[in-house]
Amino acid sequence: MNLQQRDKLVNWHPYTQMKTTEDAIPIVKGKGVYLFDDEGKRYIDAVSSWWVTLHGHAHPHIAQRVSEQLNTLEQVIFAGFTHEPAIQLAENLLQLLPSNQEKVFYSDNGSTAVEVALKMCIQFAYNQGKEKTKILAFKDAYHGDTFGAMSVSGRSVWTKPFGEMLFDVVFIDTPNSNNLENLTSQIKDIADEIACFIYEPLIQGAAGMLMHNPEDLSALMKFCKDQNILLIQDEVFTGFGRTGKLFAADYLTEEPDIMCFSKGLTGGTMPMGITTSSNEIFNAFLSEDKYKTLFHGHSFTANPLACTAALASMELLLSKETQENVNLISEKHKEFSKVLQQHSRVENVRQTGTILAWDFKTEQGTSYFNTIGKFFYKEFLNRGIIMRPLGNVMYLVPPYCITSEELDYIYESILQVLEMELN
Ligand SMILES: *Cc1c(COP(=O)(O)O)cnc(C)c1O
Repeated sequence: MNLQQRDKLVNWHPYTQMKTTEDAIPIVKGKGVYLFDDEGKRYIDAVSSWWVTLHGHAHPHIAQRVSEQLNTLEQVIFAGFTHEPAIQLAENLLQLLPSNQEKVFYSDNGSTAVEVALKMCIQFAYNQGKEKTKILAFKDAYHGDTFGAMSVSGRSVWTKPFGEMLFDVVFIDTPNSNNLENLTSQIKDIADEIACFIYEPLIQGAAGMLMHNPEDLSALMKFCKDQNILLIQDEVFTGFGRTGKLFAADYLTEEPDIMCFSKGLTGGTMPMGITTSSNEIFNAFLSEDKYKTLFHGHSFTANPLACTAALASMELLLSKETQENVNLISEKHKEFSKVLQQHSRVENVRQTGTILAWDFKTEQGTSYFNTIGKFFYKEFLNRGIIMRPLGNVMYLVPPYCITSEELDYIYESILQVLEMELN
């Protein structure tokens, strides 16, 4: 049996209808921006393997550092024990974040980083003898697939089977220059009951790369702060350079209380989540009373290998070379946006830093299940490019090591595919 046949017998893939899906493509090797299949065909990974890969695949610097760590200390319980990589990573990360962020809580992925953040906010109120159980979120939000993270995500086909079991969340529109007053009056009436507001800053990724302005978000954040609503800024996707700056926070004038990270955190090498908090949050859990403890942890909390991968990735991220390349990608995307804007089959071209997205005009309308996405997906694969449209929403989120020539090749391919006869 070949890899595809063996895979089919034993593996259940994520977000995949296993009855109708095409066979999974076996990938045997990665190098830089390329992935290689079992027949030697190479693909440009234009979606950074679900938005995680920052510096390309199998980066030698990260590999070297993780390999050394693997031979030194691979794992240790993080209750009652600590280690250099976890300390160093917390020190380095906090230096880059808004100045009120002072503590790091480790977990395993983006969804768990969100779970931890929600628990911190709910228990922050509880520990002070207050009952605040309402949560505020954006309508089309995506914060992950565990139950808490699903609850604060927009209601959609993804959450439908679990509808009744998700906790109540107040959903609001994303802010724009016209609706701020409307939003704040919605919030004001129930502000006393709201524990926190969780949001994806600037870009709602899974919703279809929807973007809003930093000024409008800052104004909404300020209003919530004035109402004593804690702010959870989910930078799982936007963190580590994606927006052209290190964090979406670098565009905002207000500081969140809590931040969530994953995806690019380890450069896409290993799974890990981080929730950071201000000392105001942290101090509310300090007590002689054991019941005020944050009772949360995962077996692999602060895994030394993942921490080391994150440290190595951050060294690369802060290098002059990477910063220049992030700027180059942003500039080239901006130029290509102008071309796309002129295209008769394209609408809603939008860009923030290294993230470029647009809608393909279709009679089916904009939706995740728009079948056109599958057609484009295959056409790009034929051209050796991995792009994974969200329905008719097409986007690029390339690794930062991509070259100008590789980007040009992707842009040309996009223009070719946009011209194709659809059937
Ligand atoms: C992907 C994502 C998550 C969930 O992260 P996982 O590691 O897939 O659990 C949470 N929030 C945002 C904004 C995301 O894009």
